[in-house]
Amino acid sequence: MARVLIVEDDPHVRSAMVAELTRWSHAVRTAGTALDGIREVSHHPPEVIVLDLGLPDLDGGQALQMIRAVSATPVLVATARDEEAEIIRLLNAGADDYVVKPFSGELLAARIAALLRRAGQGSAQASVIAVGGLVIDLARREALLDGQRLELSRREFDLLAYLAARPGAVVSRRELLTEVWHQAYVDDQTIDVHVSWLRRKLGETAARPRYLHTVRGVGVLLDAPR
Ligand code: CA
Repeated sequence: MARVLIVEDDPHVRSAMVAELTRWSHAVRTAGTALDGIREVSHHPPEVIVLDLGLPDLDGGQALQMIRAVSATPVLVATARDEEAEIIRLLNAGADDYVVKPFSGELLAARIAALLRRAGQGSAQASVIAVGGLVIDLARREALLDGQRLELSRREFDLLAYLAARPGAVVSRRELLTEVWHQAYVDDQTIDVHVSWLRRKLGETAARPRYLHTVRGVGVLLDAPR
């Protein structure tokens, strides 16, 4: 059983999928447009996303990209086009698997089960980091502060997880560039902006830091408040 988000604009296809997946005891939420889907992903993080590619507001590839910008949740793409080139493009763009329409409820459920198994194997080695009242679940990509879930972008989460894994250590900009941004060059301001967004989400300010401290000219560090 898992939290599944179905992003599909056709109400008939949608309700058929909901009925089928509910029968397999999944907790299903739905969205009818790509933008609603992206909103759902950040407000009610699912464990699997089923993404229809023929949505009214965004092209499937764009929708996939936007989901990937905020979430690492496995995405099962539902496509009407059984073209190898298209499927390769989607897999390269961050989809984890695909089903070609029309598909049976059983195939859909089996594909979802396979994705969950794979995700579960990955999380077996992953851990949970705790610093003070901050708890970061790397496998589920969830962060809690004093029991409250933080709404973080993908980059904010990566930044928080990286710093929290090294509590009390000053992490340089250069290290953040290579380890969090995976780029040799990013505008200094980009890092500052993400640090300040993260700081705001942690409910603190640069003048009154609790967890996140800027060490001028050196980098940033995260530690439990004293
Ligand atoms: Ca559609």
